[in-house]
Amino acid sequence: LNVPDQPIIPFIEGDGIGIDITPPMVKVVDTAVEKAYGGKRKISWMEVYAGEKSTMVYDKDTWLSDETMATLKDYVISIKGPLTTPVGGGIRSLNVTLRQELDLYVCLRPIQYFTGVPSPVKHPEKTDMVIFRENTEDIYAGIEWAAGTEEVKKVINFLSDMGVRKKIRFPEASSIGIKPVSIDGSKRLIRKAIQYAIDNNRKSVTITHKGNIMKFTEGGFRDWGYQLAKEEFGAELIDGGPWCKLPNGIVIKDCIADAFLQEILLHPEDYDVVAALNLNGDYMSDALAAQVGGIGIAPGANLSDTVAMFEATHGTAPKIAGKNLANPSSLILSAEMMLRHMGWTEAADLVLNGVAKAIASKRVTGDFSSQMEGATQVGTAEFGDEIIKHM
Ligand code: NAD
Repeated sequence: LNVPDQPIIPFIEGDGIGIDITPPMVKVVDTAVEKAYGGKRKISWMEVYAGEKSTMVYDKDTWLSDETMATLKDYVISIKGPLTTPVGGGIRSLNVTLRQELDLYVCLRPIQYFTGVPSPVKHPEKTDMVIFRENTEDIYAGIEWAAGTEEVKKVINFLSDMGVRKKIRFPEASSIGIKPVSIDGSKRLIRKAIQYAIDNNRKSVTITHKGNIMKFTEGGFRDWGYQLAKEEFGAELIDGGPWCKLPNGIVIKDCIADAFLQEILLHPEDYDVVAALNLNGDYMSDALAAQVGGIGIAPGANLSDTVAMFEATHGTAPKIAGKNLANPSSLILSAEMMLRHMGWTEAADLVLNGVAKAIASKRVTGDFSSQMEGATQVGTAEFGDEIIKHM
């Protein structure tokens, strides 16, 4: 990636705890960049508006302006806090709109454990995975109709003509959703996962799916993944397949999604890079995040072939907003991913080490201190300063 030494990076502050966690993120990143490159490199931050703040800056109906969309597209790399999803009024989730309009087809969620973080499992340190979740297709595409509508009647007539209703129980009073899974959409996601595994010396890529039940959609995802591994990456079958191995030894395997949720609790060390369809990936990312300390420390990114938007994975946490109580780690670790994506590895390492040591010092935000023996609770801003102190 060709990033200038003085890039302009747009940021969306975010609603709710966005006002708490964004300033420490900026301070931590600026300090790390300064420490790593001594003024040779510097980020110019440019605020763009989305969510509730956008309705104040523009007008009450503008949750996501064309200007914001254009800026995010033009500047290629950006970072955002959480956004309130407007309720009612027919407005789509802002996050879904951003993902679809910018074609951010990869939802990247690294799952790593920091020593000392409270976890519900006995050996959280065994979990070290990177989830590649498809972000634009599947039952999440939102193609659905409510029971009793004209659209459903038409679909039911069509399916009756095809004889589908003779084979399964399918009452007229049904709501219907469509689950599109394309060859191209599956391959571009799995291609990114395999390339990531190669670039980062990972051991395996697991394609997760429910192909035992949904043969053409979820089964297609698995089959197209194996096909891609063979045709584009030169993978060879292991013991007659379907598992296969890249020339550099990375294993490409698959796992049924429900078994996978059991596996990550029992044998997390067997899994590394994971490719998932939209709905399965959503469940897996949150379950895995809980295993290593919860959403307060789970970073993420949404990627297209050109645009990269980094974001805290949690919501706006309205009950603690503006109170200096939120854990800023999720957004700060998203910024760490952003620095790595930019190739500013030294600054990214400083942030990562700062977070690890700040947690080890046990001066942490309330979500952690309440479950850590001997810990002292500090505010959001103070935890940011703690990270800087330990860089
Ligand atoms: P939430 O993530 O805001 O909160 C869930 C729980 O986690 C709450 O108890 C909250 O206090 C806690 N929490 C979340 N982030 C935390 C942090 N950094 N530090 C400490 N505790 C934290 O989820 P919700 O309550 O379901 O949603 C609230 C709003 O956020 C809704 O409008 C929803 O649509 C929106 N949302 C936005 C995003 C996004 O922008 N990416 C994601 C999820 C939800």
